[in-house]
Amino acid sequence: MAITPDTKMDLLISLCKRRGFIFPGSEIYGGFANSWDYGPYGAQLKKNIRDAWWDRFVLRRGDVVGVDTPIIMNPKAWEASGHIATFTDPLVDCKKCKRRFRADHLLEAKAAEPGYDKEKPVDLVGMACPECGGTLTDIRYFNLMFKTFVGSTEDTTSVAYLRPETAGGMFVAWKNVRDTMRKRLPFGIAQTGKAFRNEITPGNFIFRTREFEQMEIEYLCRPEDAPKAFEAWLGEMKAWVTDVLKLDPSHVVYREIEDADRAFYSARTVDIEYMYPFGTKELYGIANRTDYDLSRHQEYSKEDLRYLDPETGEHILPFVIEPTWGLDRSVLAVLAEHLDIDDAPTADEGDAEPRMVLRLPPLLSPVKAAVLPLQKKGGLSEEAHALADRLRSEGIAVEYDESGSIGKRYRRQDEIGTPWCITVDAQTPEDKTATVRDRDAMTQERIPIADIAAWIAERLRT
Ligand code: ATP
Repeated sequence: MAITPDTKMDLLISLCKRRGFIFPGSEIYGGFANSWDYGPYGAQLKKNIRDAWWDRFVLRRGDVVGVDTPIIMNPKAWEASGHIATFTDPLVDCKKCKRRFRADHLLEAKAAEPGYDKEKPVDLVGMACPECGGTLTDIRYFNLMFKTFVGSTEDTTSVAYLRPETAGGMFVAWKNVRDTMRKRLPFGIAQTGKAFRNEITPGNFIFRTREFEQMEIEYLCRPEDAPKAFEAWLGEMKAWVTDVLKLDPSHVVYREIEDADRAFYSARTVDIEYMYPFGTKELYGIANRTDYDLSRHQEYSKEDLRYLDPETGEHILPFVIEPTWGLDRSVLAVLAEHLDIDDAPTADEGDAEPRMVLRLPPLLSPVKAAVLPLQKKGGLSEEAHALADRLRSEGIAVEYDESGSIGKRYRRQDEIGTPWCITVDAQTPEDKTATVRDRDAMTQERIPIADIAAWIAERLRT
């Protein structure tokens, strides 16, 4: 049984539900469109990605500091950033079937059609509904920010917004970070957290939702250093994709955004796209935002947001390189990339059956090792419990499972991406060894129990 792009999403969504990664949100109330609950394994996978990111880009670097700013900020911040005026998507409705589309997505799809003449701009005139062929309405602009009210009165003075990106909080906190951290340019501010957008066309599982998590860095530098810093961060993003998420480089597209398609303040933008089963779509992005954000916040807040260069005595408004990672899209890319079906031997000699396996990078796997006594009797349960406790005390995420056939227990661990299954068998009480089965190669190695924690820790470092 092979996985094809057509079947992959269905397999993935059902695996996520069956095995406790991701469930439909609010399910007992009939669901809530495009909202998802991360179950125990999904939440851990997501946390492992977030932790790997923080570890790599904050803890292991001397030039990036982390912050945690609020989801609801002073609404003036969004006026300054331009979000209130321009954070809109163009939408059109089909007059016949009433479906709603993003006009830019329709244009992109049209331009990607075979035979399309790249010299000729596409416009919506004469374009019909791609679903039913009906007539489309004119384009309307729709602001994506969620509005709310702060305090007990619901009037215009108490209107506030849920942040549509985490970046805004870092620009607003910049003055305090500058004044307290004694950092010299170039240096970055990092943050992870939820962002909210009232998307017109959410969908494709967790790819586009109205509530999602971002991991962002605002890297501040002297204007003349911005192109070099951009290259360096683009390199960091490439390394993250291959070294941490272990995505095949041929599944990732780096799309240089042309002048005409970039935000007016951006000196350079690269979209990083992944070949999801439903098409090649944005995973991450990186932009040289120049001094746009700081100059706008300086203008609106009337605070001096310049940096005093201690060497030259100059006051400068730094340029900002902004690499952005979507956390939910990372989870989806990792799951899609590493879902596989191969053949596994059955209990009958020489026989094999298809097995579904998530070949997650061990660092990201929600469970690192499963401890499985071959049988409950003969003191094997006790031996196995003691081993599981020992590994847990070393900080290794372990699962203990003694029910069902060993083959079924392996299959379950394969489906949740556990890299190692440790089997405690009749030999264990005698010589204090256990076998470690490798998820991908399905080979077994007998290892002294006392060495297993170090054996796993060593493999998690690579
Ligand atoms: P798109 O073109 O897909 O709407 P975007 O260009 O608006 O995305 P950015 O504003 O650059 O996205 O946001 C940065 C990152 O946040 C994206 O690269 C993506 O990983 C993530 N992201 C944005 N919107 C969503 C969403 N609705 N659901 C999940 N992740 C999102």
